Amino acid sequence: MKEKIIYIEEAPVCLIPEKRRSIRLAWDRQERLIRCFHPRSLSEAVLKNFLEKRKRRVLALFSQVFLPGEGASLLYGGEEYRLSSEAPETGETFFRDDLAKTIRTSCLNEGDLFFTRWKEYLDQEAPLCFHEKIGFWEDKTGEEASRWRFRPMRSRWGSASPQRAITLNTLLVMAPGDVVDYVILHELAHLKVADHSFRFWNEVARFMPDFNYRRSWLRENGNKILSLY
Ligand SMILES: [Zn+2]
Repeated sequence: MKEKIIYIEEAPVCLIPEKRRSIRLAWDRQERLIRCFHPRSLSEAVLKNFLEKRKRRVLALFSQVFLPGEGASLLYGGEEYRLSSEAPETGETFFRDDLAKTIRTSCLNEGDLFFTRWKEYLDQEAPLCFHEKIGFWEDKTGEEASRWRFRPMRSRWGSASPQRAITLNTLLVMAPGDVVDYVILHELAHLKVADHSFRFWNEVARFMPDFNYRRSWLRENGNKILSLY
């Protein structure tokens, strides 16, 4: 794959041509740059112009990058928790205090290990967060997946395969519950309609007339979550 890096002010953006129709931006924590997935047909000059026009969004993406540190805020269930390096007495890596809205952790200053451990923590929380909702939406829609898989993903919230297996991004544990409901319903609706056609959105709206505000939450806050991948 041929990749080219350009700069929008101080933000590095890596241009990645792909077989796709739209442009998508995502933060890459390992490489510390923004990845711009774009249709092959667009030239570097066109993309540079596109990104310059959306400079605010590009710079916002760059500034949303999460840096673990004392007092840094971290989302869980859509709420901001304050990180504390006061190690949990329980021996666990993370201890969540829902009342005080703090998360105590023993690996705050261990760089990359923090991200690995946090993803492991979310993997462990995911079944608690997802199972009941999955049962609810399968009942309500009458659609059932052949298999549910939970794992951290870099750039998508969920996916549904032609074999009707649904995968959910475990990073969604950081999002509000009603947003998780939306993603589950979205993937279940794909079992009926594979694409994002008018028929698909109709299907989603039939069960969740207010799905749009949940979708916008992901658009506005999604990068904060995905930057932890
Ligand atoms: Zn979809």
